[in-house]
Amino acid sequence: MNIKNNLILALDVTNKDKALEICKQVKPYINTIKIGYPLTLAEGLKIIKIIKDEFNANIICDYKVADIDATNSKICDLTFDAGADAIICHGFVGSDSVRACLDSANDHGKEIFLLTEMSHPGAKMFLQKDAEAIAKMGVDMGITNYVAPATRLDRLSKIRDIAGDDACIISPGVGKQGGDAKKTLEFASAIIVGRSIYESDNPALACEKIIKD
Ligand code: C5P
Repeated sequence: MNIKNNLILALDVTNKDKALEICKQVKPYINTIKIGYPLTLAEGLKIIKIIKDEFNANIICDYKVADIDATNSKICDLTFDAGADAIICHGFVGSDSVRACLDSANDHGKEIFLLTEMSHPGAKMFLQKDAEAIAKMGVDMGITNYVAPATRLDRLSKIRDIAGDDACIISPGVGKQGGDAKKTLEFASAIIVGRSIYESDNPALACEKIIKD
C-alpha cells in the first residue's frame, strides 16, 4: 500500500458530514484513511465507498476482527465487498481465525494488517506478553502487514525485528496517546493519527506539523 507522507488518518468521528469535511481538509497530505467502529456504526458500511470514491483514498477498516474462523470470513468478505482495501485483524485469536481473514483478503485481492499489541495502557495487562508470539505466527503465515504501538517504542522495535525490514508496520498512539511521530517512524512504516488531527481547529495544519516535526 502506498501511504502518502507515511501518515494515516484515524477517522473516528461519528458523522458523515464531519468525516467528509475533515477528509477534504487533509487531502493534500493524506491518501490513506482508517475507518473504525465509531464511523461505521454511525453511518453504515456504505461510508467506506463514499470516502474511498470521493477522496480516491486507501481505506483500512479497523474492525479488530477477533472471532472464530467462520465468522471472521463473513466479517472480512462484507468489509472487502463494501470497498475496503485492508482490514485490521486481531492475532490473539490464533492461526485458524487469522487464516480465515487472510483467505478472504486473498480472494478479494485485498490485504490484512495483523494486530500484535494495542497502544493503550490496558494492553500491558494481557496482550503484551503474547505480542511477539503473535508476530511470529504472522511471519510463519506469510503476513507482511502489522499494527504495533507508537506508545512503547521498545515493543514496536521488537515487532520490527520479528516482522523484518520489508514488512509494513503501521503504528497508532502518536499525539493524544503520547507517542512521537519521528521516533515512531524509526521503526514503523507509517503512523496512525486520530484525535490530534480530527479534533484540531485546523486539521490540515495539524497534518503539516506532524509531517514536518
Ligand atoms: O486518536 P488517536 O490518535 O489516539 O487514535 C488512534 C487510533 O488507532 C484509534 O482509532 C484506535 O482505535 C486505533 N488503535 C490503537 N491501538 C491499536 C490499534 C488501533 O490506538 N493497537
